[in-house]
Amino acid sequence: MSVGFRSRNPSGLPLISLPPPPEIPPRPTFALVDLAAIRHNVRAVRSLAGKARIMGIVKANAYGHGLVTIARQLLAEGVDELGVGFLEEGVELRRAGIRVPILVLGGIFEDQIPWFLRYGLDLAASSVFKIDQIERAAEACGVRARVHLKIDTGMGRIGVQWDTAHQLFERAVKASHLQICGVFSHLATADSDDPTLTHEQIDRFDRALEFFPSHGLPMPTRHLAASGGILQHPRAIYEMVRPGIMLYGLYPGRGVLRTVPLRPALTLETRVVYFKVGRRGRRVSYNGVPLERDTRVVTLPLGYGDGYPRSLSRKGHVLIGGRRFPILGNVTMDAVMVDVQDASVFNGERAVLLGSQGSEAISAEELADRTGTIPYEILSSINTRVPRIYVDSDASPA
Ligand SMILES: *Cc1c(COP(=O)(O)O)cnc(C)c1O
Repeated sequence: MSVGFRSRNPSGLPLISLPPPPEIPPRPTFALVDLAAIRHNVRAVRSLAGKARIMGIVKANAYGHGLVTIARQLLAEGVDELGVGFLEEGVELRRAGIRVPILVLGGIFEDQIPWFLRYGLDLAASSVFKIDQIERAAEACGVRARVHLKIDTGMGRIGVQWDTAHQLFERAVKASHLQICGVFSHLATADSDDPTLTHEQIDRFDRALEFFPSHGLPMPTRHLAASGGILQHPRAIYEMVRPGIMLYGLYPGRGVLRTVPLRPALTLETRVVYFKVGRRGRRVSYNGVPLERDTRVVTLPLGYGDGYPRSLSRKGHVLIGGRRFPILGNVTMDAVMVDVQDASVFNGERAVLLGSQGSEAISAEELADRTGTIPYEILSSINTRVPRIYVDSDASPA
């Protein structure tokens, strides 16, 4: 006999009736995304790319900024197409009602092709073999697949080698169920101060593409430049460009020419959840070492489980009350302890882990430098446990 919990009160204590619970208060940790900064950055791209179409790259949850909201904002600002890394990201955009061309930049598996066709997503056709697969699937579905032909001019990732690209082109122009929407390649060192390989890649791209005019065919839409190319290599700007990181307000490399000003869009913020006095000799966090002096220690309720790098243990800083304080001990999955020294810091006080507070700022570059990575990884690591909140710093207050 099963007895439902509700049918009986096993405690033997009188039941009390509580009011219905209110909504759980939102987590005080969030990524604040300023849509005005995104708009500014689109205009910055436009100022360099001239008449070229813009394919806004929104892979990896729009570099951590939130896929669908950022995609909509980019389109509202006149971005023409979108680029994502994987099929699922393209499907999510379609399900959100976005109708512009969406290129899935990465490689494809045969069993995915019907889904590309069903959702009207553009495929990166990166070999004769893949074109055969796409052609077969498109024929079976009775549609024309939209493809961008991918050639490898020096990145060594997907794509046919530039010197055999004519084989890919010959196959593609013969296929009756393909629509060639573009031809593209990717630069491997466009953010570097050494232009040698970039120039070589541009030359290889141009040479491969001679196929079209030399066969009396119209030149397809060409695209080569991501942020590094847009900022440093006007020659790499063809009929379309593919900016990613610069849309989010960051430069693709340390030494890259800052030919336009960009505005970082994301702030990672939380609130102090605990305050204590740490006595000399006490330890803080996993495998902590004894404190060398009395100090004040606050705990922030986020950690590497949110994508805040554990490698910032004892290296990173956070901003509280407009001042910069060092992280104490190891970053844990759900918490970071901060040495606030002699400062008066209160429970509930705002703390900024990435972004600015008062006149102090912690940039994604700083976090990347301290952890031996690049800003791309810092931003795209902020995961779905962190709510995104969108603001518009240019909007006039209501
Ligand atoms: C990620 C990516 C981009 C965007 O690069 P950024 O450096 O972020 O501007 C463009 N094209 C391809 C193929 C990519 O993989």
